[in-house]
Amino acid sequence: MGRLIMFVVALLAPIVAMAQNRFPKPDFESGYEYPDHEYAVPNEILWDVLDVTMLLALLLAATWAVMKKRKPMIWISIVSVLYFGFLREGCVCSVGSIQNVALALVDPAYSMPWNVLAFFLLPVVFALLFGRVFCAGVCPMGALQELVNVKSGKIGKPVAMVLGLLPWLYLIMTLLYALTRSRFIVCQFDPFIGIFRLGGDVELLIFGVVLLIISVFTGRPFCRFLCPYGALLSLFSSVSIKKVELTKKKCVNCDLCHSACPIDAIRAPYANTPQEERREGVKRLLGYMLFLPLLMVTGALLMRMSAEGLSRAHKDVRLYDMVVEYEAQTAPETMPLEVEGFYVKGITVDELKATRDAVVEEYRTYSTWAGAAMGLVLALALIRFSVKRRRETYEIDPAACVACGRCFEYCPQNRKETLKA
Ligand code: SF4
Ligand code: SF4
Repeated sequence: MGRLIMFVVALLAPIVAMAQNRFPKPDFESGYEYPDHEYAVPNEILWDVLDVTMLLALLLAATWAVMKKRKPMIWISIVSVLYFGFLREGCVCSVGSIQNVALALVDPAYSMPWNVLAFFLLPVVFALLFGRVFCAGVCPMGALQELVNVKSGKIGKPVAMVLGLLPWLYLIMTLLYALTRSRFIVCQFDPFIGIFRLGGDVELLIFGVVLLIISVFTGRPFCRFLCPYGALLSLFSSVSIKKVELTKKKCVNCDLCHSACPIDAIRAPYANTPQEERREGVKRLLGYMLFLPLLMVTGALLMRMSAEGLSRAHKDVRLYDMVVEYEAQTAPETMPLEVEGFYVKGITVDELKATRDAVVEEYRTYSTWAGAAMGLVLALALIRFSVKRRRETYEIDPAACVACGRCFEYCPQNRKETLKA
């Protein structure tokens, strides 16, 4: 409850609207509304430098707090929500930067700003070194959900497992649309942007509010079940050099940390009885290994078959369809603006068709890879769900843990350590 009160107080603090548009618009209709600022931009580069400095400073502070098991995480979250959320209107965002990076990889005409690259890379580097300290309180979306969280309601394992696939699928679709220069779907469907900008698309605003209401009862639904950047960070975090650690002392299996973790990132002890014969275990694993390519091929085929439909997200494919539809009419109605623009440019329908066919072909290639990746994600999730590992004590799952530090104060062994220090 204390968190909720602090969050409300923070919201009432004067918010000086001084953000500006730093993301260069991609050369396609991203479906994203750029913030419309009402103030003069004194020095764009200065703001870029300030943003990256803030990001680095908060990452360092969060790392210190997590590694030393100190408590200022709530203040880091408040600063992040106020600065990156309300002040900068959510528009220099690590989550969205995935798209800029993907676009820069395939489009030589697109030059990615250095600050966007920094927003993509810095959290990744920190995740490799210390785990998901960016998610701890530096990311304004995670911080916003963290601040309103009161209860650590648990979600059933099978449901959590199925929902846990969504960030990966979202990541794959995000890459597909960015690589094909079609849309920036992360920006287009950002559920918190309306809250940070105090307005905007009503449906998204409602979605954001619903997510925040759910966040009161269970930790970070967006982070756990939607965020594509969180999925990426979890990969690096699972192999990080230093990991979030509850205590150096022996775990006494009191279950307090497990109940306290709002996102269920602590794995309970597992006796694994009756013990499976080693040969049986190997056989089962081999079965899964055979299943893996099958799922990948199925995914690749299904997505390849959907490529033409998916390609309608690209403006040239939509334009071609509109022109064909318009020309097929015996008594044409009012000419749509897009079609009018096409005729004004003086391009022939054949030329447009050639462009459209090239886009569809590109979609076929990327969709095939996307489908294979989806199959891989599904197969790995099944393997992970069915392989039972014996665990004697409670253990933090480094991929899932967002380093919020909530469990620290609940662990009696950690409290003893902190008292000594
Ligand atoms: S999971 Fe995504 S939204 Fe959540 S804190 Fe991490 S980057 Fe931000
Ligand atoms: S730091 Fe603790 S409470 Fe927070 S996500 Fe990780 S395991 Fe859960």
